[in-house]
Amino acid sequence: MRIKKADIAIIGSGILGLAHAHTAAQRGYRVVVFERTPQAQGASVRNFGMIWPIGQAPGSTHQRALKSRQTWLDLAPKANFWLAETGSLHLAYADDEFAILEEFAELAPNLGYDVELLNASGVLGRSQAVQEKNLRGGLWSASEVCVDPRQAIAALPRYLESEYGVTFRFSTPVHAINLPRISTPNETWTVDRALICNGADFESLYPETFATSGLTRCKLQMMRTAPQPAGWRLGPLLTAGLILRQYAVFAQCKTQAAYAKRIAAEHPEYDAWGIHVMASQNGLGEIAIGDSHEYGWTVDPFDKARIDQLILDYLQTFLAVPSLQITQRWHGVYAKHPDRSDFIADPAPGVKIINGVGGAGMTTAFGLAEEIFAEWE
Ligand SMILES: Cc1cc2nc3c(=O)[nH]c(=O)nc-3n(C[C@H](O)[C@H](O)[C@H](O)COP(=O)(O)OP(=O)(O)OC[C@H]3O[C@@H](n4cnc5c(N)ncnc54)[C@H](O)[C@@H]3O)c2cc1C
Repeated sequence: MRIKKADIAIIGSGILGLAHAHTAAQRGYRVVVFERTPQAQGASVRNFGMIWPIGQAPGSTHQRALKSRQTWLDLAPKANFWLAETGSLHLAYADDEFAILEEFAELAPNLGYDVELLNASGVLGRSQAVQEKNLRGGLWSASEVCVDPRQAIAALPRYLESEYGVTFRFSTPVHAINLPRISTPNETWTVDRALICNGADFESLYPETFATSGLTRCKLQMMRTAPQPAGWRLGPLLTAGLILRQYAVFAQCKTQAAYAKRIAAEHPEYDAWGIHVMASQNGLGEIAIGDSHEYGWTVDPFDKARIDQLILDYLQTFLAVPSLQITQRWHGVYAKHPDRSDFIADPAPGVKIINGVGGAGMTTAFGLAEEIFAEWE
C-alpha cells in the first residue's frame, strides 16, 4: 500500500474539524480530514445555525465569537451557502425578566456588547413574529447571524477541497494515532500533526485523557416546522425569559438570581429538563425550535414527548407564527466542560484534542481555530 502524506490530519468533519481545516489550509498546510460517517451527522448539523456572540461570556470568549462571525460572513459567498445577518431579540414578558435586560443593557458597553433596550413598541418595530400579548420589552443585538447548518456543513468541505486542495476521507473512522502514521481501513497516511475534533464521541480516542477531562455530554431535543408562507420572515433570531437564567453572559446581572429562583419554584419542569426556548429560520422558510439540556455520559436514546410539549407551549408565549406544523423532531449531543468554553489537551507529541465547546461551537469554532494555530506555530 502506498503511503500518503499531509502536514496535518484532522479527525472529525463537524464545525470544529472544518474550522481547523480552513485555518490550517489558509496557512499553507496540506490537510487531510477523516470523517467516520458518509457526511457529518453530529451536533454541527443538528443545531439552530445561530452564530450567537451575545450569549458568550465577556472578554476572550466574546471576542472569539466576533472573530468567528466575521469568518462566517467571509465564507458564505465563497462557499455558496445561505447566511442572514439577522441580529437577535431577547424578549421580556414579566417585570423580573425586563429587569435583567435593563441591568444588562447598563453593563453592556463596559463589557464590550453593543445592545439596545427596547420597549414593547420598539420590539414590534423590529419583528413581525413577536407575540404582542403581555410583551414588556426586549433587548436588541445586531451581532447575531443565521446559517442553515445542514447546508453550510455540507458546503464547506466542497469549498475547502476546491479552493485549498484539502483532502476529505468520508466513511473513514480513525481508531488509533501513532504519529507520524495514521492508519485507516483503506490507507496509511504520514502526517506531522493530528487534531482530534471528534465531538461527543470523545472517549473513542485517548480514553484516559477524557476520563479526567471533566467533560460530559449534553442531549438537546429540537423540532423544525414546515416552510412558512412565502415572504413571511422571522427576522431577528428570537428568544425569551428562560434563557436569561442559563447563558453565562447574564450571570453578570444581580437581578438574575431572583428570576431563576422564581422559575425554579413555579415551573420545576423547566429546570428538570434544562429548557430554554429559541427560534431561528433558515433560507427555506423553516423554523428551528428548541431546546432542552440533559447531562451525563450516557445519552438517553429515546426522546421525550413531554419536553417537546413544554418547548412548544413556551414558544407560543412569545412567537406569533403562521404555521407551527412540526415536520421534523430530533436530538443532538455535544460535549461540554462544566466551567470552560473549550477543552484542549495534548495527549501525545504532535497530537491535539480540541473539544468541549458546548452549545456554542457554531459561534466560536473559527475564532478558536485561529487561537490554536497562533499558539501552536
Ligand atoms: C441541538 C443543538 C443545538 C445547538 N445550537 C447551536 C447554535 O445555534 N449555535 C451554536 O453556536 N452552537 C450550537 N450548538 C452547539 C454546536 O452544534 C456544537 O458546539 C458543535 O457542533 C460541536 O462541533 P464538533 O465539531 O465538536 O462536533 P460534531 O459536529 O459532533 O462533529 C464531530 C465529528 O467527528 C466525527 N468522528 C468522531 N469520532 C471519529 C473518528 N474516530 N474518526 C473519524 N471521525 C470521527 C463524527 O462522526 C462527527 O461528524 C448546538 C448543539 C446542539 C446539539
